[in-house]
Amino acid sequence: MNQPWSFALVRLAGALVVAATLGLVFGAIEWWLVGVLSAYLVQQLAALYRVHRWLRRRSYELPPDLGGVWGDVVALVGRIYRRKQHHKRRSFELLREFRRLVAAMPDGVALLSRDLELQWFNRKAARLLGLQRKVDYGVRIDNFLRHPDFVAYARRGGEGGSLVLRLPDGDDRHVSLRLIRADEQFVLLVRDVTHEARVEAMRKDFVANASHELRSPLTIVSGYLDQLVEDPSLDLAWREPVEEMRRQALRMRAIVDDLLELSRMEASGEAAPMNPVDMGAVLALARKDALAAGPSRRVDLALETDASLLGAEGELHSIVSNLVSNAVKFTPPDGRIALRYWLGVDGGAHISVADTGVGIARVHLPRLTERFYRVDQGRARQHGGSGLGLAIVKHALQRHGGQLSIESVEGEGSTFTCHFPATRVVTREAALATH
Ligand code: ADP
Repeated sequence: MNQPWSFALVRLAGALVVAATLGLVFGAIEWWLVGVLSAYLVQQLAALYRVHRWLRRRSYELPPDLGGVWGDVVALVGRIYRRKQHHKRRSFELLREFRRLVAAMPDGVALLSRDLELQWFNRKAARLLGLQRKVDYGVRIDNFLRHPDFVAYARRGGEGGSLVLRLPDGDDRHVSLRLIRADEQFVLLVRDVTHEARVEAMRKDFVANASHELRSPLTIVSGYLDQLVEDPSLDLAWREPVEEMRRQALRMRAIVDDLLELSRMEASGEAAPMNPVDMGAVLALARKDALAAGPSRRVDLALETDASLLGAEGELHSIVSNLVSNAVKFTPPDGRIALRYWLGVDGGAHISVADTGVGIARVHLPRLTERFYRVDQGRARQHGGSGLGLAIVKHALQRHGGQLSIESVEGEGSTFTCHFPATRVVTREAALATH
């Protein structure tokens, strides 16, 4: 037992002994005992009253000066209260600091509930998205960002990185939005990327315009060079250089054409149209071209489905012919190329172009679809490639909601596979059923 309790019990026992002694001396012992116990009760009630009063007014009243067990209780409660106050103050300060920090951030930040209702946002987010403090709390974010791309992105819970949107405020402003799930809430990061979007648009315009301007003079130059090569009066010493000039002019035209094709795809931005395209025919044509390039090379075609793809015929042609011409370029004449078209379990379609060519080292794989990226500059140029083939493949696939995967082992060969979503596939039965 601790000290205050021993002291209180000893005091009570002492008072009872004194009362009993007085009762024995003067008689009526029970009254003496009742008197002492009543006085003790009154003292305890008075102490309880003071503690109770202090507890109710503890934020602005000093604790009562009580000794014994009551004093101990008051000290304990006081300590717990002070600790709680300290934590409260600390949490409050932390929250204020956090808000100050987030408010000072150059990017917009908004906290959303699980149902995407606005719970809080900083000044920058308010400015970029046209939100009003307090008034817009509780309103769903897709009331402010109605673009279908954002609605779909929000429905996916922000999966797939960030999203760049053009705001419909007439100022041609672009924002990059990133939705991050945090337990039962979402954090929306909003960044003004207007400048980056303008620079990117300028770059695209520049490339498109430059390619366009270069096309006509190049056509004229290669036209004259074609005639010059055929001219029997051409000095023998000039024959070889003119032939080389013609080859290089043709290469330049191929580069300009590829740049124009990329620019056209970038400019249209949206998804490719949904025209049914007979991929069997596209692949058969690509096989014929591959055989024409090197008759000794084996080119197999496995058509495991007769489903059509919904897309832009020219772009689907371009995807297949770029992959097949690469396979031809990088596979020796006695090698083998295998084309395959099949449906996956998810209903999506897949096209693979496999070769037994030079293969590609692992380090190069992630960068292969970059413009002008080549594993071996010398060899690629010698083959006459523009360095844009895989960039076109990737872009065209993206416009069809598809993806490209590349597997390769150096010295053994490569497999390029295009994956198309089920929404772009129409099977023969489905096509017949709709007619
Ligand atoms: P290029 O016009 O140079 O072929 P691409 O964009 O089509 O440009 O290809 C980029 C690079 O990827 C090529 O230069 C080559 O190094 C590599 N590559 C593409 N396809 C193959 C393949 N089937 N086998 C080996 N390397 C390949």
